[in-house]
Amino acid sequence: MNKKIKKLLIGTNNKGKLREIRDLLPKYIKTYSPADFNLNSPKESGNTFKKNSLIKSKYFSKKTKLICLADDSGLEVDLLNKKPGIYSARWAGKNVNFKSAIKKVFKELDKKDKNWKRIKVKARFICALSISYLNKKIVSVEGKVEGKISPIVKGKNGFGYDPIFIPNNKKKTFGEMLSIEKYKIDHRSKAFKKIKKFL
Ligand code: IMP
Repeated sequence: MNKKIKKLLIGTNNKGKLREIRDLLPKYIKTYSPADFNLNSPKESGNTFKKNSLIKSKYFSKKTKLICLADDSGLEVDLLNKKPGIYSARWAGKNVNFKSAIKKVFKELDKKDKNWKRIKVKARFICALSISYLNKKIVSVEGKVEGKISPIVKGKNGFGYDPIFIPNNKKKTFGEMLSIEKYKIDHRSKAFKKIKKFL
């Protein structure tokens, strides 16, 4: 493959992700999103983050004939048997309401242990990134960041579950961090480091 990709489709319709992926990409790459082509996302029928990122990158590449980078990511909560996991976006519902997705996390935790706010509820964000051209996988990698669930929703930065995730060795949630602080340690930046040589 030609080392320098000049045009790249970012295979996501999630605005938060789109912004973060654009921040992490080299600035000389001209990026597109599925919305530029009026494309909806395909059904995420895989049972792993990697499989779903590949489904998305191949689908969007075939539709647009552009090289596509797709991300599939989510939050795993140990006390919830790693849920919401690959269902992280789906817990926010059709209207993509993360207030209600966070409420659901708290409700499920309450069901498991009424005292969960007093214990360390281990969790991690996982991000799989895949680059495909048409039906061919170019690369697929994964990054993760370990942490815990905050008993209080905190911060207005970031997106998704950021206001309830406190990474290990930090006191703030991702929602309270500036994006530059988040990018130093987060799952997406770690996955990005592994695909850097392809960009
Ligand atoms: P999908 O990969 O489009 O299926 O959705 C991933 C979902 O995981 C997002 O909609 C968010 O809910 C969640 N997620 C992934 N990465 C992050 C992150 O960096 N911060 C907060 N939530 C995230």
